[in-house]
Amino acid sequence: MAIKATSVIEISRSAYKNNIKYLRDLFGSGVRISSVIKGDAYGHGVGNIIPLAEQQGIDHFSVFSADEAYAAVQVARQGSEIMVMGHINDDDELAWMISQGVSFFVFEVERLEKTIALARRLGQVAKVHLEIETGFNRTGLVLSELERVAGLLVAHGDVVRVEGVCTHYAGAESVANHLRVNQQIGRFYGAVQTLAGAGVGGLTRHTACSAAALTYPETRMEMVRVGIAQYGFWPSQETFIFRYQDDLQRGRDLKRLISWKSRVMAVKEVGSGEFIGYGNTFLSNRPMKLAIVPVGYANGFSRSLSNNGHVLIRGKRVSVLGNVTMNTITVGVTDVPGVAVGDEVVLIGKQKGQAITVASFCEMSNQLNYQLLARLPEKIPRVVVR
Ligand SMILES: *Cc1c(COP(=O)(O)O)cnc(C)c1O
Repeated sequence: MAIKATSVIEISRSAYKNNIKYLRDLFGSGVRISSVIKGDAYGHGVGNIIPLAEQQGIDHFSVFSADEAYAAVQVARQGSEIMVMGHINDDDELAWMISQGVSFFVFEVERLEKTIALARRLGQVAKVHLEIETGFNRTGLVLSELERVAGLLVAHGDVVRVEGVCTHYAGAESVANHLRVNQQIGRFYGAVQTLAGAGVGGLTRHTACSAAALTYPETRMEMVRVGIAQYGFWPSQETFIFRYQDDLQRGRDLKRLISWKSRVMAVKEVGSGEFIGYGNTFLSNRPMKLAIVPVGYANGFSRSLSNNGHVLIRGKRVSVLGNVTMNTITVGVTDVPGVAVGDEVVLIGKQKGQAITVASFCEMSNQLNYQLLARLPEKIPRVVVR
């Protein structure tokens, strides 16, 4: 007997392939793509995305923390590189990463010193990337620390190998940050020069996230760290508009991987003048036909979509009526002939030429598409489809 969840998230292999081709065409063959798979691959599941990426020849993955690296190592092929961009809890995790050949950002001198000591004790070579603070003001080595860092690296080159030098931009998805991003690019070049002057040169430079890689070609350098765009989403409307003309001419576009689907669990008719669901936020003003869908805020369908969200049934866009409950929504299907129990309901994705995009879904629920993706509950099954 197969017991199923009340909804399912489909992940499109052909959309992923399209997106990697899009990015490669744009960046050229000299730029390596590191697939950013933090946040369980932006809600898509690392177990789905790593194999899809590897099928497209991607062999470099970026995660946030040691536990995410651990999850990735279970799935990735032998030769694939895993890089931790952020947090490592303790020496045990650091030692595990060194022994597994997982590389990681160094943004504090202390982490480098620990790394050297541990690598020496383990008799293994640690692989590190130097993260430079250029103005994002989160993590990163400041200019005054670079001489010391370079000194340590040169002295302990037998146990620590610097693979790259990197930084992260503070909002490359918005023109409002243009000056700040340009200043960061300048500071990054300065840091790379300082390091080279101190004997640490020839490194793989990687600074660009999706938005930077799509709109600031000079930030692509040897490698880019692409998250949201590989999943088929634009980092912002500005980024989309920036690329629009060129993409139109070349007939290319990003395609979303994700569709979220459920089925009608019940239908019913109510007369005019009836409140629908909890409270009195929706009053019928004519006899209406309703469909109940078994997805609510416990399943990631935000309560702020009450009286506000839309779904697709039989190729028609229909509205959420009344409040979203923990496990259900009620939608109005009065004008859609023949709706019956078991009909497919598309919460995100396409149906017969209509589409509910995550972007529109997010606007309605006032969330960033990044956040909505990351919040899709882990327990909704993900299946890879054609
Ligand atoms: C998340 C992240 C990225 C990828 O960002 P996208 O906008 O999803 O492409 C790149 N670099 C760092 C350091 C990140 O944290």
